[in-house]
Amino acid sequence: MSVLRELYEEIALCQQCDIARHRTKVVPGEGAEDADIMFIGEAPGWHEDQQGRPFVGPAGAFLNQLLASINLKREQVYIANVIKCRPQDNRDPLPIEIRNCRKWLDRQIELIRPRMIVTLGRYSMAMFFPGKSIGKVHGTAIKVDNTLVYAMYHPAAALHQQKLRQTLEADMLKIPALLSRIEEVVEPQPQPQQLKMFEV
Ligand code: URA
Repeated sequence: MSVLRELYEEIALCQQCDIARHRTKVVPGEGAEDADIMFIGEAPGWHEDQQGRPFVGPAGAFLNQLLASINLKREQVYIANVIKCRPQDNRDPLPIEIRNCRKWLDRQIELIRPRMIVTLGRYSMAMFFPGKSIGKVHGTAIKVDNTLVYAMYHPAAALHQQKLRQTLEADMLKIPALLSRIEEVVEPQPQPQQLKMFEV
């Protein structure tokens, strides 16, 4: 069994938050273990909770379309969430839930070692761009350790807003150029508060 699969088993045993008792299935994440790109959403919704898989509802269908626009299938990337259990009634994740679940996401990042992390929505954005607003940072990237972190709006937010949909589509189209430029960014690793933002 791969180390990632062992991690999923560990995550499935987690009962640290109250929401663990209400979940149908835990949603650890899925995708290529050697993915170049890791997408991080917010939390499982109803469909994900039923299936134990991330982004399988309407937001997932839109994410699949966005991936196809840059010639990627979801099996070629890795998809995870900030928290692994569905908050009841699709409420926002609580700060304590985000803190408790952080260790799982950190382990996933360590194991997959993606070249690029794409945050989907404000919760995953806040982990890497603290204090920033998504309206300002979407479509921009920073380098954190050796990984490029790129912020996008959440696909669910765009489902009913045509303008956001176009923004997400445009931001997705920037990813291939960013990926191909990663090696060019050879600056010494900056401290997090001095991270340099750059745009394509
Ligand atoms: N929204 C998310 O943030 N994650 C999912 O897995 C599904 C919807």
